[in-house]
Amino acid sequence: AKHDGRAHFQYFAPEMNVEMLARVQLEHRLRKAVIKSEFYLDYQPIIDMQTGAVSSVEALIRWRDPELGIVSPELFIPIAEETGLIEPLGEWILNQALADLAQWHAQGHLLNLAINVSGRQCIHPTGSDFYQLLRSALTRHNIAPNYLHIEITESMLIDDTPHCLKALKAIRELGIDIYLDDFGTGYSALSYLSQFPISVIKIDKSFIDNATSNQSDAKLVKAIIMMGQSLELPLVAEGIETEAQWQFLQALGCHYAQGYLMSKPLSNHNLIAFLNNETAI
Ligand code: C2E
Ligand code: CA
Ligand code: CA
Ligand code: CA
Repeated sequence: AKHDGRAHFQYFAPEMNVEMLARVQLEHRLRKAVIKSEFYLDYQPIIDMQTGAVSSVEALIRWRDPELGIVSPELFIPIAEETGLIEPLGEWILNQALADLAQWHAQGHLLNLAINVSGRQCIHPTGSDFYQLLRSALTRHNIAPNYLHIEITESMLIDDTPHCLKALKAIRELGIDIYLDDFGTGYSALSYLSQFPISVIKIDKSFIDNATSNQSDAKLVKAIIMMGQSLELPLVAEGIETEAQWQFLQALGCHYAQGYLMSKPLSNHNLIAFLNNETAI
């Protein structure tokens, strides 16, 4: 989708800097999309490696532009962050995902829900706005805080430490677990793990990709899992695509798995079918 988008912009104005034009156009279209709600959520199951059960689902935003088609979140989330559009968008994501979660719970699927959160959403002068937003959304949808996780990245912890720390502590005290996403990329200062109220570590897909084919990646994954175990932090391995990767991670005692091997991100409708199928087996 990324390449389709770029080709499209190039077609309109070949003399202009493609990146620049893409950026300006995307921002313009993104503003419209926020007003017109051209978004939807997919949900990717996260599996308990001991039991094989679906433990939680990660909400992943999708944008379908009438002309561009599906635009990757890797492309538009950074623009939403820079422009501040992430605030209304983030609020929409939270409400939509909690509405869906309430529906699954009503059907007897007591899942947990993971939401991706950008630094910009959390960094207010006091950090209390984001905390209040989470709290009131949970109340509105009548969901206990322990069913919700937020996923943050290391860059968010670097950006504005005191304010962010304050907000995250309040959020954690409310009962919302905080997952450290994309672990191992970025700066990975290990002090974050004790300094911030992190509950779970997600090992980045880039390490999982070659864990069964490359000795040094295998060693890195082992080291990350051992570190998690000694800090008593459960781990999620993301981007598992092969049976060999599953076996490797399970043998090391990794707790949770996410990846195309088990399931791609699913629409609400297909997720329910997936869950019903699981319980039927
Ligand atoms: P992420 O948070 O690391 O999400 C995991 C990404 O890996 C998702 O891509 C997912 O579809 C993909 N993935 C999972 N398993 C596999 C696999 O086995 N193979 C492959 N090739 N890919 C796999 P997606 O949905 O395109 O999202 C990309 C990024 O965009 C996310 O990375 C996250 O940083 C951001 N994003 C997505 N949804 C949201 C959102 O609602 N809010 C915010 N702030 N960011 C979001
Ligand atoms: Ca994530
Ligand atoms: Ca990730
Ligand atoms: Ca990632």
